[in-house]
Amino acid sequence: MASKKQKTAKYIFVTGGVTSSLGKGIIASSLAKLLQSRGFSVTIQKFDPYINVDPGTLNPYEHGECYVTDDGAETDLDLGHYERFLNVSTSQANNVTTGRIYYNVITKEREGAYLGKTVQVVPHITDEIKRNMLLLGKTGEYDIVITEIGGCIGDIESLPFIETVRQIKFEMEKQDTLIVHLTLIPYLTSAGELKTKPTQHSVKLMNEAGLQPDILVCRTEHHLPHELRNKIARFCNVQESSVIEAMDAPTIYDVPMLMRQERLDQRALYMLDLYSEKDADLKDWETFLSRLKYPKHTIRIGLVGKYVELRDAYKSIIESFIHAGAMNETKVVIEWIHSESLKTDNVEQLFSDLDGVLVAPGFGERGIDGKIEAIRYVRENGIPFFGICLGMQMAVIEFARNVLGLTEAHSMEMNDKTPDPVISLMDDQKNVTNKGGTMRLGAFNCKLKKGSLAFGIYGKQHISERHRHRYEFNNTYLDLFEKAGMKAAGLNPDNHLVEIVELENHPFFIGVQFHPELKSTVLNPHPLFVSFVKYALEHHLRRQAR
Ligand code: GLN
Repeated sequence: MASKKQKTAKYIFVTGGVTSSLGKGIIASSLAKLLQSRGFSVTIQKFDPYINVDPGTLNPYEHGECYVTDDGAETDLDLGHYERFLNVSTSQANNVTTGRIYYNVITKEREGAYLGKTVQVVPHITDEIKRNMLLLGKTGEYDIVITEIGGCIGDIESLPFIETVRQIKFEMEKQDTLIVHLTLIPYLTSAGELKTKPTQHSVKLMNEAGLQPDILVCRTEHHLPHELRNKIARFCNVQESSVIEAMDAPTIYDVPMLMRQERLDQRALYMLDLYSEKDADLKDWETFLSRLKYPKHTIRIGLVGKYVELRDAYKSIIESFIHAGAMNETKVVIEWIHSESLKTDNVEQLFSDLDGVLVAPGFGERGIDGKIEAIRYVRENGIPFFGICLGMQMAVIEFARNVLGLTEAHSMEMNDKTPDPVISLMDDQKNVTNKGGTMRLGAFNCKLKKGSLAFGIYGKQHISERHRHRYEFNNTYLDLFEKAGMKAAGLNPDNHLVEIVELENHPFFIGVQFHPELKSTVLNPHPLFVSFVKYALEHHLRRQAR
């Protein structure tokens, strides 16, 4: 078990240098996973340098998917990685942006909290950052808090974060904080050499800001030879055993194993003066990895969405398929289908070879017709279908138009004059004018109908799932839908909003108003994804047998 010597949490800061996109989130998650598997209670938080108060108002093309926590925070997609790796929930406190820090400080200033004072970056902004950085550590819940600092060393934007880390490090005991710096060791093909200079420069930039990394994690395409590690250590003021190699890996889920091999966890514990009796136990993780790497089958799922050019917009869905695929010992190949490219005359050709179709979440008018066409095809042809949020709403519209004969049925999001608003604005959304943080957000309860497919899949009646939407199934139409074969399989027990629809006489046709992809983890794949893959595999095997 973990040593309980320390009363308050220890802090690990993860910074990045040389370039963005090196995978700080994955390194932070992998280190957290290793420490967790040694018995420590760990959480990860991310500090993002942008001025948006949260990423909720950002276009997915800008920033990838917006992740949502149980408590309804709209957050960076790295929080998804934290949850998928650690199998524990995060919250609003786990993601803080520069915008939120300024918002808090300016709100306090208006309330008169600093009367008479000039409000400045140092100390007011840095104090607010510090308060937030230490918040989770003070709950007494965690042995270790890992803080990922967004952006790159040297960015103007992240300077106040870096300055705050410097202050925290200075104010705390040496063994209570640790800085892990992630850098790149590029390989120059023409010279046939790995180059350490960018890393040296990046550490120099940190030194100029008053920080010295304790551990360097070096992203590389080739193994780092001993002499090179030695050189990095000498030039960057770290011990050689603190130079950690992070080779490119076939899957992000390999990274905890690679980091264990490189002893990143041991090194961190040693420097934090923490002791664990047991080694990192990753048996379940290894089982998952071997299922992932040696699948028995391959299926192809069409993912219909309008942000398909940027895969990060569907990050949690992709990862959920990886978890559910491994569970079914099946490799899930995602065929990306742009909803705008789907027409009545090409849907057959695009879909005839698919084993299942997922219609993705989204906002706005663009690509709607393609989504409806996709759903018509899979409904009529018995292809497993999974609709998420907007995907469920489109399934409702398709059914209204093509089965109920309500040819102009629509969502009020796209047409607020429609004679048949089968998807309508929720009452409590009608007076909302602000865009940020005002949707129906976070975890809500849902009661499943006994006998429904969903009930069989979850194996229980009461579930809780995360939401992010303004529009809902319009209950005035429920009777009509149910009589024609589209059933409400799950309702919110408090306000009776329809959260799940299912089709009778179809092997697998499920639409959910919530986002199951936000709750799938490596050790707890989401049951709806697991079942969807299972049914798609059955469809695949049936087709093969024909
Ligand atoms: N645009 C839809 C709504 O606001 C669906 C949102 C989503 O797919 N997340 O209700």
